[in-house]
Amino acid sequence: MSALGRSAGTDFFRIAEQLTDQERSYWIRARDFVDDEVLPVINQYWEDAEFPKSLVERLATLQLVGDGIDGYGCPQMSPLACGLIHMELNRGDGSLGTFLGVQAGLAMQSIAILGSEEQKRRWLPGMARLERIGAFALTEPTHGSDSVALETTASRHGDFWVLEGVKKWIGNGTIADLAVVWARDDGDHAVKGFVVETDTPGYSARRIDGKGALRAVWQAEIRLDHVRVHESDRLPGARSFKDTGRVLAGTRNTVAWAALGHATAAYEIALRYCGERRQFGRPLVGFQIVQERLVNMLADVCAMQLYCLRLARLTEEGNLTDTIAALAKMNNTRKARTVVALARDLLGGNGILLDHHVMRHMADLEALHTYEGTETIQTLIVGRDITGVGAFA
Ligand code: FAD
Repeated sequence: MSALGRSAGTDFFRIAEQLTDQERSYWIRARDFVDDEVLPVINQYWEDAEFPKSLVERLATLQLVGDGIDGYGCPQMSPLACGLIHMELNRGDGSLGTFLGVQAGLAMQSIAILGSEEQKRRWLPGMARLERIGAFALTEPTHGSDSVALETTASRHGDFWVLEGVKKWIGNGTIADLAVVWARDDGDHAVKGFVVETDTPGYSARRIDGKGALRAVWQAEIRLDHVRVHESDRLPGARSFKDTGRVLAGTRNTVAWAALGHATAAYEIALRYCGERRQFGRPLVGFQIVQERLVNMLADVCAMQLYCLRLARLTEEGNLTDTIAALAKMNNTRKARTVVALARDLLGGNGILLDHHVMRHMADLEALHTYEGTETIQTLIVGRDITGVGAFA
């Protein structure tokens, strides 16, 4: 789906016709931001591993942050509008897309789905305006795919909880005002969620450097050293790891849209490049093998779009399940990796230059392939559903 008002672009199944005026207006706002403001500058941020603060400040003015949360100062948007925003930001840049995924998808949705009325009123309006930045701290150095086995502890002392542990890969961890921290209650052994203000004594975050993907957004290792939070900062709806899973199902759906954004960018860049680049006396698009590759890429992009459209409709109906979200995340990240690798090849040597953008998408997709549960873990979630046999351990 792209290029409203231009050619069919990638919209062969005429998905744009399904959009309401409001959805279209969110889409155009996100798309214009990406084309006019993100793409001209993002490569330098990526190369310098610099967080694009000015772009995030600009994003704050566009009323695109909130992922469809109803009320609490969040812009009113349907699941389809949310998906289109994630698609577009990732079509521009995976780091910016990941920033939005953490802020709106993981941190804000944890509070919206599992928080108390007071927590929602306190945090969500400022987060929607990006005045307050959020993080989501689940993964630990020794527990990634098996995050259910997390070792961070929460000990109750009267009206307070004391959190102890280490978290790894926490998006926005060094710049956040608050982090949703997942810890095991050492009383009843259930996994619980806590909103931790990052200036609380004992919270420290160290940026993870040396990444070859998503270089323009920062993840952190977080230490929780005797961090004391009040009982009112515990998410009352988070009673077990199943509740964490409710947040993750929504964000896996978001990653499926994000993967579509990366693949769309790569396909469009490759099509344009092959139309202009001449070898053996004619443009690359004149060769059958090149055409076949471009058509295969388009077919994958269209299939991803149809997955995404259904994800939006199922979310709207309240019928998005863990299995559907896992299947979509697995399918779309897998297809996107194929599309982007083909594009990289079709650009020849230029394909590895940041100037042409494809290499950045290719590198960033490696992170999407892994985060929010690896492709293998999504496969095992679906496998468990279709066979009735859990094959994780
Ligand atoms: P591992 O679990 O060690 O997996 C290594 C390999 O083993 C993978 O191929 C995996 O598929 C495979 N594997 C594992 N178990 C099985 C099995 N049972 N059967 C077969 N194969 C298996 N976490 C957060 O909490 N908050 C964040 O904001 C966040 N952001 C992230 C951003 C980035 C850029 C990255 C890279 C990660 C982020 N994560 C975040 C963590 C992410 O969710 C984990 O990296 C992911 O779940 C995988 O865990 P792991 O890296 O420990 O890999």
